[in-house]
Amino acid sequence: MSDASRGGDTGAGSGARPPGERDTARAAERLAARLPDELAPLARLAFDLSWSWEPGGAELFRSVDPLRWERVIHNPIRLLLETPISRLKAVARDRDLLQRFVALESRLAARRAEPLEAPGAGPSASRPVAFLCAEFGAHCSLPIYAGGLGLLAGDLLREAADRAFPMVGLGLYYREGYFRQRLDPSGRQHEYWIERHPELRPLALVTNGAGEELTVPVRIRDREVRLQVWRAELGRASLYLLDADRPENRIIDRWITTRLYDSDSEVRLAQYAALGIGGMRALAAMGIEPSVVHLNEGHAALASLELLREGVKAGISVDAAAKTVREKIVFTTHTPVAAGNEGYTAAELHNVLGHLPEELGLTPEELAGMGRIHPDDAHEPFRLTVLALRNGRASNGVSRIHGGVAREMWRGLWPDQPVDEVPIRHVTNGAHLPGWMAPPMRRLLARHLGEGFERRAADPATWEPVVGIPDEELWATRGALRRALVEFVRERTVEDRLRRGEPMAYVEEAARNFDPDVLTVGFARRLATYKRLHLLASDARRALGLLRGERPIQIVIAGKAHPRDEEAKGVLQRLFGLKREPTVGGRVAFLEDYDAVTASRLVSGCDVWLNLPRPPLEASGTSGMKSAFNGGLQLSVLDGWWAEAWNGDNGWAVAADPAPDEAARDARDAARVFDLLEGEVGTLFYERDAGGIPRGWVRRIKESLRSIGPRFCATRMLDDYARDVYPS
Ligand SMILES: *Cc1c(COP(=O)(O)O)cnc(C)c1O
Repeated sequence: MSDASRGGDTGAGSGARPPGERDTARAAERLAARLPDELAPLARLAFDLSWSWEPGGAELFRSVDPLRWERVIHNPIRLLLETPISRLKAVARDRDLLQRFVALESRLAARRAEPLEAPGAGPSASRPVAFLCAEFGAHCSLPIYAGGLGLLAGDLLREAADRAFPMVGLGLYYREGYFRQRLDPSGRQHEYWIERHPELRPLALVTNGAGEELTVPVRIRDREVRLQVWRAELGRASLYLLDADRPENRIIDRWITTRLYDSDSEVRLAQYAALGIGGMRALAAMGIEPSVVHLNEGHAALASLELLREGVKAGISVDAAAKTVREKIVFTTHTPVAAGNEGYTAAELHNVLGHLPEELGLTPEELAGMGRIHPDDAHEPFRLTVLALRNGRASNGVSRIHGGVAREMWRGLWPDQPVDEVPIRHVTNGAHLPGWMAPPMRRLLARHLGEGFERRAADPATWEPVVGIPDEELWATRGALRRALVEFVRERTVEDRLRRGEPMAYVEEAARNFDPDVLTVGFARRLATYKRLHLLASDARRALGLLRGERPIQIVIAGKAHPRDEEAKGVLQRLFGLKREPTVGGRVAFLEDYDAVTASRLVSGCDVWLNLPRPPLEASGTSGMKSAFNGGLQLSVLDGWWAEAWNGDNGWAVAADPAPDEAARDARDAARVFDLLEGEVGTLFYERDAGGIPRGWVRRIKESLRSIGPRFCATRMLDDYARDVYPS
């Protein structure tokens, strides 16, 4: 790389501090300088995202200014900048509160000072795993995610931070992030975007040794685009985010990092060039030499071409260079849906990356062929998934079933192998337990499983004491979580309905009728058609019966439809067609603009978590794991992770048997869901003993925690990657 200067603040040799750490510390000092002196620890904490999953972390920041904390969407930087000085001075005089902040700050600082784990074979402190992903959901104050893929990436990085596993995250900083959702009274979805200034986020611009902003060039559309690098700190892990919003770039090029999954396919390809090519260059400029480059989904696959280019430039033949590239790259595929494995035409490839073939010593056709199953088929699009599968030494899907689906899907790349031997394996996803388990549940489990049980979560023995938790205590905790959700739903529905301009009687209907003692069912996820939200409304008579019955249920729904997915948008509108039916407005709540804040409320408060994908299209699913950590019970199709988790006693299953056609499958599965909700689920929840405890229900919660906790936490997931995938 010609001009990316190596920084004196950089150099990731063992024992060295992570590149950009000093920039983060300076950003914290600048923030502290604007606050009363006593609040310096708050400013430092604000820049280490690991406050957010430390016990008590969120409560501490909330206590600075509770209402503002919600308004700034749990962003401590904005909280400290926007809270009136009179209130900040009051906090500065509150010795007890300050003391607790100081204690938390020193806990996190001690953790950051720990040496990185040396896992043995494979990655090490000086040669970490570089984990590349188009989206990261590390915290809601950094809204650069769309859904499951980003949250999964964030969860893996948070897990790496917890155990000082040598991993750095690489992504893009999108100024407008993903779209925000509003519905109109007919249930029609509208999208809009808001600018999120990086200066108001827990981010610091990485500088080089000369104190200048570190930038790397990437050639896109035949122009050099300069990318700067933001660093987010997650304890011992760093997340580096590339950003094209620099004055020397033309407006059209600054746009590249504006919106996650931009609607224009050439802009998306430019984003993936920034991520893959820019990402590798940024690492080099910061002095990080990864031992493994983990492409999390195909978006980052152009990284392999940058590594290839380096080899060719060093004078190695393309074939020899390709071999060394392969040794470095591992790939995880997440999408069994064709649309998720996007393809580009030769013209698009040429328009965005026309200079690339020459740099690699290839013809344009040869380059295009690297992303095709049949390289010579000029009609086949260039797919990043294919490029990643071809250029990686290990590939995996994200559940046992999905591993099989992926082998079937991509078998054309290995035409001589039987499908079972197609080299795609699986690592089942997991969720970051400390990040998703609500504080009351965490306190309960810490009492019974022992302090620090989170770090031992992958060991089944850790969870054995769950059976001994007094039913009364577990039920009281569930009650508290349900009450908190009901409170949240009451407020949010009023707000959402007022914004939609609904009649006043309807505006307050859920606020009056949502009931902390009623069986609460949650359905929240991307509203892709295959997730089958429509099943809920497919039999209106039975659905209404459930809401109005002797053993009523209430339902909370949330999710965004892809802006161009008219079918999914139609499903939402048809669902809204039922809203004027008596009792519906008071027992069904659609929460607009599903995001990680809403998700954490829902997964902790719902008694039953519904998942109705059309098999085998659910690669894994992770929201159900989050629900299970909080004592929610799953009612789900046996697809993705649930096919591995269900044991007959820890929730309910809808069989994934074949059906003559999709309509028949939908009808059968909907009937099964209604049968369960009207029958066993409702009975078990409302069957109370003299003390008011539903013993059978509580027994199921315990079985769910015991069987799901150790197997679907991110600790187990990272264990699997560290043991089976990362060592070469
Ligand atoms: C966990 C999570 C998801 C993924 O949920 P699925 O079960 O895969 O549908 C999506 N969005 C948010 C905000 C989440 O927290």
